[in-house]
Amino acid sequence: MSEKYDFIIIGGGPGGVAVAEVAAAKKKRVLIIEKDGWGGICTHRGCIPTKALLSCSKYFADLKKLKRMGINIAEASVDFSAIKKHQQQIVKVSALGAQKVLADAGVETKQGTGEIISPQEVRFTDSSGKSEIFSAQNIMIAWGSVPQVLPGINLTERVLTSDGILNLNSLPSSIIIVGGSVIGVEFATFFAELGAKVTIVEILDRIIPLEDQECADLLKQELTRLGVAINTSTKLESMKDTGTGVVMQAQKDGKQLEISADVALLCTGRKSLLNTEELEKLGIEYTKAGIKIDKNMMTNVAGVFAVGDVTGGMMLAHRAAQQAKVAAGHICGDSNFSYNENFIPSVVYSHPQIARVGYTQKRAEDEGLAVEIIKSQYSANIIARAELMGQGFVKAIFQQEKLIGATIVGEDAADLIAPLALAVSNEMTRKQLKSWVLPHPSLSEIFLSLTS
Ligand SMILES: Cc1cc2nc3c(=O)[nH]c(=O)nc-3n(C[C@H](O)[C@H](O)[C@H](O)COP(=O)(O)OP(=O)(O)OC[C@H]3O[C@@H](n4cnc5c(N)ncnc54)[C@H](O)[C@@H]3O)c2cc1C
Repeated sequence: MSEKYDFIIIGGGPGGVAVAEVAAAKKKRVLIIEKDGWGGICTHRGCIPTKALLSCSKYFADLKKLKRMGINIAEASVDFSAIKKHQQQIVKVSALGAQKVLADAGVETKQGTGEIISPQEVRFTDSSGKSEIFSAQNIMIAWGSVPQVLPGINLTERVLTSDGILNLNSLPSSIIIVGGSVIGVEFATFFAELGAKVTIVEILDRIIPLEDQECADLLKQELTRLGVAINTSTKLESMKDTGTGVVMQAQKDGKQLEISADVALLCTGRKSLLNTEELEKLGIEYTKAGIKIDKNMMTNVAGVFAVGDVTGGMMLAHRAAQQAKVAAGHICGDSNFSYNENFIPSVVYSHPQIARVGYTQKRAEDEGLAVEIIKSQYSANIIARAELMGQGFVKAIFQQEKLIGATIVGEDAADLIAPLALAVSNEMTRKQLKSWVLPHPSLSEIFLSLTS
């Protein structure tokens, strides 16, 4: 007789860990299986290592501001191996944090591979190949996603995805980044701030295509100022590893473009990890984008749920965690959690950052909504001026007095978007925002124009 659980979760990323935590808090017996590192891609190859790196490059870039503030630093330089140690240390802290959450909640953990063999059974295989079958009332798929590589492009020691680039032990003097969306511009910011020659190649006619055009324009201006060469409307044709560097061939405006660099980073999207054979054996429906789920994150097979990147859509850690809370809450009879994709904030952690929740101006226009746009500039905020934050703005979108979306470009945008995410998800009106009192002086006073 196999051991019986209320929940078996496959995948120990933000989605899997959040399901485990909520279910265990409801006194359910929970097993979570992870084949690699606790905390998932987010902790080991995504959100956390990249933000640790960007913190280092931002401090280095900000040193230039200090002179204007009367602080003279003789000569600053970059120690890439120390930066890598910081990255590794922060990843370790994050992984231990995920493990602690699971241990404190009383979740049983197993390190190895999980395979669903029936709607109520999972085969667990450890690294020595030893297998065991466990049964559960509910099975949660939280397998995540993998980088998408363009057909005809081969990964090598110098042609890398975001996974590989995080293992670099020396700072390349030049890098070609294919893809000017979120992950591409974050890495472009990091390498350019540390002094590498960065070239972005993007097939579309702009970078950060999903975000507000004006914000993307400001980011483009700042990246260009940093020395990043941005080639939009440029189609990659080939990428060759020469043994000492890379050579890229591309088409731009009908002309051939050849660029050489030390390394190439492919940021051409991510795809849900679909173990199609396993899904098909179980009759679980999926599309190319991800596993199909209903509003409670259940697949078409009763008792089998899926959360996070494996379901396609916005591939974000906090979205995975919110889906997970809704799924676990639903199973445990707690309907207090809710999920609406429209209310998931998204952030580009470049410098400046771009953060958004809800509608962009373009989406409102495309849907023919009559909206009022209110813009507030960083240059009118005294803390932004005192801290030499440079350019930035908040763009808030009201429809019939209701806040339906906001985008911020500028320093600390990731933190500033949090109260607006609360306001948008609670469908707050301008009248309600008028009771919002903001501390003075603070960057948050940038919201005063939304409340006046
Ligand atoms: C470079 C980069 C930067 C990013 N930055 C951000 C950011 O700043 N903010 C943000 O919100 N998101 C960011 N993301 C996206 C974020 O990492 C993902 O959206 C998030 O990790 C998805 O969580 P998840 O739980 O769905 O899956 P994952 O975090 O992908 O976890 C899935 C886990 O399942 C395990 N697994 C897979 N198959 C099996 C199996 N058969 N048995 C056992 N275990 C298995 C994997 O080993 C993995 O650990 C970034 C991603 C990348 C690549």
